[in-house]
Amino acid sequence: MIDPNKIKKDFPILRQKVNGKDLVYLDNAATTQKPQVVIDAITNYYQNDNANIHRGVHTLAERATQKYEEAREKLAKFIGAGSSREVLFTSGTTGALNLVAQSWGRANLKKGDTVLLTVMEHHSNLVPWQILSKELGFSLEFIHVTKDGLLEEAEGTIRRVKPKLLAFTHVSNVLGTINPVKNLTKAAHDVGALVLVDGAQAVAHLPVNVSALGCDFYALSGHKMFGPTGVGVLWGREELLKEMPPFLGGGEMIKEVYLREASYKEPPYKFEAGTPHIEGVIGLGAAVDYLNSLGMKEIQEQEEELISYALNELEKVKDLNIFGTFDPKKRSGVVAFTVARIHPHDLATVLDQEGIAIRSGNHCAMPLHSHFKLVATARASFSVYNAKEEVGKLVEGIEKAKKILQ
Ligand code: PMP
Repeated sequence: MIDPNKIKKDFPILRQKVNGKDLVYLDNAATTQKPQVVIDAITNYYQNDNANIHRGVHTLAERATQKYEEAREKLAKFIGAGSSREVLFTSGTTGALNLVAQSWGRANLKKGDTVLLTVMEHHSNLVPWQILSKELGFSLEFIHVTKDGLLEEAEGTIRRVKPKLLAFTHVSNVLGTINPVKNLTKAAHDVGALVLVDGAQAVAHLPVNVSALGCDFYALSGHKMFGPTGVGVLWGREELLKEMPPFLGGGEMIKEVYLREASYKEPPYKFEAGTPHIEGVIGLGAAVDYLNSLGMKEIQEQEEELISYALNELEKVKDLNIFGTFDPKKRSGVVAFTVARIHPHDLATVLDQEGIAIRSGNHCAMPLHSHFKLVATARASFSVYNAKEEVGKLVEGIEKAKKILQ
């Protein structure tokens, strides 16, 4: 079993005090902290290997290119891709989802078609589809959410709506719900739809194998899995990527360029125009090594136990209302809650005085909050370096806030 207090030693930022108290970092759904090995990989790259990739023949350029492409191999293996050619580096999940919308969506969607989303989507899997549907005239439909935070009659909705694309989150960044990707993918494929999965909140918390899940696209962000900000991945099935037009045009994505036309490279390069986030990709490769060294199954087991404990402890707090399911098998380490007569921002401010970092607001999921008739929630989100003692500190902090604010 993973010992979070041992893991914590790998993360230099977690050694500090905030407002005189040991930092308790419970905002991992916003971004995770970085282990020393990731920081070192980025520093080493700049100290020893920095060069632009895929262009130069000099030693540094070759070394930088090799490290960048090695990271692609690591990512491909980590998510169970058939080939590293299916791994496209993007600016993050948002970049990946917009790429699917602007490339696949623009080429394949038209009036009369439907894109099926869910009410629990992050804005980054809603707004790109809204923008495009206004322009191309296709419809948006939504799978609803039960009061326990699970998808409601998802397979029935898929059969009824017969979408051209089903796009949904693997794990909700508010409710923590782990959605049944495999079953929903099968139902979508049965009606001829493609499936895009937003994996931003999944990849650092449970083993993900895109081949076993059977989906067509999978998006993720480096910074939510101990890697750097500004880098992420779109995984797509190779035959789809080959058919898709490029999203951004520029250097490196072309074979030949004439004044009025150009031919493009094969994926993944067709989708990586310009100088990429080289140190970000190398840092993300180091983050994958780090996750592998802990073991995704082991991480999942440890987090399942922690979330059960956290739900149990938080449930005992009077006036505190938790959103989402209490079944630890269906829920990842995100707990959104409200405390009666306390605004979540005020609660987060009092907790900060205790050195505890949580998030408050709508967490880029306004429609989900509206669905629950809420404007904001407080959100504690856990990672593998969080220990049970920190849940205790959170509960104590909430009790203190109640004394001050209620
Ligand atoms: N989807 C989900 C479920 C998320 O939690 C987030 C980040 N909060 C995103 C997408 C967007 O990720 P990024 O900001 O890294 O592009």
